[in-house]
Amino acid sequence: MSFPEQHFGCEQCGAATDQLLASPFTGAGVIQSIATVHRYQGTDITAPFTIAAIVLDEGPLVNGVLTDRPSAKIGAAVTATTTNTTRDGSDVAELRFTVTVEPS
Ligand SMILES: [Zn+2]
Repeated sequence: MSFPEQHFGCEQCGAATDQLLASPFTGAGVIQSIATVHRYQGTDITAPFTIAAIVLDEGPLVNGVLTDRPSAKIGAAVTATTTNTTRDGSDVAELRFTVTVEPS
């Protein structure tokens, strides 16, 4: 599995693109690593914000910005949301993650 969707075949077994299947993700996962950005010059988000590497329940590892949880911890369960923002002059829906369960 890969995310985002790609069209150059399977990275693991070499299967051709036409053999790949689309697979919906629930958006649920667990934080594997975390970093807080304190300086950022873009206009689509205001620092500080927190980026996490998240292992989705279906397997793929994705990077995403956490919603207003600078104190989030490794092992926390998260769920995906989207937020509307502007990037390079275009309106886009950006992937974000919200903590649902703190690690015990
Ligand atoms: Zn494969």
